[in-house]
Amino acid sequence: MIRGMKAPSFMDLALKAAENAGKSGEVPIGCVVVRNCEVVATAANRTLTDHDPTAHAEIIALREAAAKIGSERLVDCDLYVTLEPCTMCAGAISFARVRRLYYGAADPKGGAVESGVRFFASPTCHHAPDVYSGVGESEAARLLREFFRERR
Ligand SMILES: [Zn+2]
Repeated sequence: MIRGMKAPSFMDLALKAAENAGKSGEVPIGCVVVRNCEVVATAANRTLTDHDPTAHAEIIALREAAAKIGSERLVDCDLYVTLEPCTMCAGAISFARVRRLYYGAADPKGGAVESGVRFFASPTCHHAPDVYSGVGESEAARLLREFFRERR
């Protein structure tokens, strides 16, 4: 457990997870779930590795955190992710009752917080976290840019 880290440090952990995912060929997106200044889960995209279209960093981290805490509701938890969550992950973050969401780069093509369906603002969303965007944005965007540049 890592205690007493400030917000930017938690995003640094998510960025590190993203970077490692990129090295193994996954789209570099990382996520950390924090409770009482303790990291309870760290994850990165594993869709290729697991042959699982739902294996986004946020989903894996939420599952791990819920298993560790022993509850499907992560009421005291904050989630840090390097890219704006997609529709699926925004839904999962809402179901998990996550307290605060911190994310790095905006994702106009696949995001669902400030982009696309803006899930947390929709009438069918029954819990919305407090949202803080642009945390570690330039580093998150750089990882994704370099990853996709190498692939072209
Ligand atoms: Zn997602």
